[in-house]
Amino acid sequence: MLSRRVDHFVESVIRDMTRLSIKHDAINLAQGFPDFPAPLELKRAAADAIMGDFNQYSITWGAKDLREEISRKALKYNHIEADPDTEVTVTCGSTEAMMASMLALINDGEEVVVFEPFYENYGPDAAVSGAVPRFVPLNDDGSIDENALVSAFNKKTRALILNTPNNPCGKVFTRDEMKLIADLCADHDVIAVTDEIYEYILYDGKKHISIASLDEMKDRTITISGFSKTYSVTGWRIGYAVAQKELTSALRKVHDFLTVGAPAPLQHACVTALQFPDSYYKELANMYGGKRKLLYDALIKAGFECRLPDGAYYILADIPEYFEMDDMAFARYLVSEIGVAAVPGSSFFKSESGKYKLRFTFSKKDETLLEATKRLEKLKL
Ligand code: GLN
Repeated sequence: MLSRRVDHFVESVIRDMTRLSIKHDAINLAQGFPDFPAPLELKRAAADAIMGDFNQYSITWGAKDLREEISRKALKYNHIEADPDTEVTVTCGSTEAMMASMLALINDGEEVVVFEPFYENYGPDAAVSGAVPRFVPLNDDGSIDENALVSAFNKKTRALILNTPNNPCGKVFTRDEMKLIADLCADHDVIAVTDEIYEYILYDGKKHISIASLDEMKDRTITISGFSKTYSVTGWRIGYAVAQKELTSALRKVHDFLTVGAPAPLQHACVTALQFPDSYYKELANMYGGKRKLLYDALIKAGFECRLPDGAYYILADIPEYFEMDDMAFARYLVSEIGVAAVPGSSFFKSESGKYKLRFTFSKKDETLLEATKRLEKLKL
């Protein structure tokens, strides 16, 4: 009765944990979204856009003024030159940009290289687009296993997904690592599809590099980002893809028939977001730096083993052995008995490596994180 396509994946575990969290009145450190307000100026801009009658479809591939602002931002921050008319597409979140890119690039049975741990969407993205994912585990310290990466490329490889900063482990790919990836992509005629949604959330002086800024990757990268995380508006669903003309026109076709376009008034408001001063981004990273410490201290105090991430807003923690529970059992126990929701590690791994891990987000008010700290202390009793 149903397609084989949907047999290959389950519903999002992250969003399932949010539902469980609501059911148990727990603190939701599972799904990565802020529980604090978006910037006032941005909310005003959205309200003004609705009152100003920006209520009908925008141009399918995005309102012109927004595409122009994205093009400016891409040049300034990502060092990517993009023509707003032919090389920028506004989508319903970066989630749609990723799915539309895969649908536009991949033929049935072609392969996509994905680093592990990975954001849970990439599996279903591959299943729906007919791609076969080839997972390349990162080393425990986050470095690339060069041999594993090289051997993942073959005649069928069509694309590579590069998520930096990485969700869930917070790895920020370095220029040398990008160079290695770029050489392989060039040698095998592979397109990099990036997920750079956490590009401004970086710690300890780490720098964000877009692989499309490397000369050899300019024409073989689809660079994806969005407004959700940088401006705390995950529910607005505004993302975008930047890519050279041919790639853009292919993904625009998919986007056009999939969603027609992203919400027009919110696109209009996002123009205001892209005009925020540089200090906004510094403050955002500083704010998350403080929250990172709050959650890290809470997890260490509660007996978890974990490392501080270099970017994004998650901590991937090892479940203490003395609990004798795997990630699924422990996540259920944590949400129902302790009152804190986290995501079972296996959602981010194809291998067994996630089986004794949990992912926690710190994209929450300090008071939420402090209440979670109190609850997690109960694990020690
Ligand atoms: N990216 C966020 C996370 O990893 C939200 C996921 C989602 O529900 N789209 O938690």
